[in-house]
Amino acid sequence: MSEILAVQIVGIFAVMFLGIVIVVMWFTHSNSKIESNKEIKKKQIDVIDRHFNDMVRIECPYCKTLYSSNINECPGCGANTKKIVFPNLPE
Ligand SMILES: [Zn+2]
Repeated sequence: MSEILAVQIVGIFAVMFLGIVIVVMWFTHSNSKIESNKEIKKKQIDVIDRHFNDMVRIECPYCKTLYSSNINECPGCGANTKKIVFPNLPE
């Protein structure tokens, strides 16, 4: 009788252990998935940001010179005022 009980306990522990292993594996798997998705999205945003910065032009309010948003000062008159002019997106 006690032997059967012992086997049952071992069986329950084995099932619990298996369940925990499966849950941990599932969690780590989904976490790694989320991480890689985040990485990809971050890279995509980085690339979009770079292209967007290249596309965006700032118009100097003093001399109307258009220059890249990467530059902080107007190359025409040296003014520091920023006015973002969004480019016309191709349709
Ligand atoms: Zn200027």
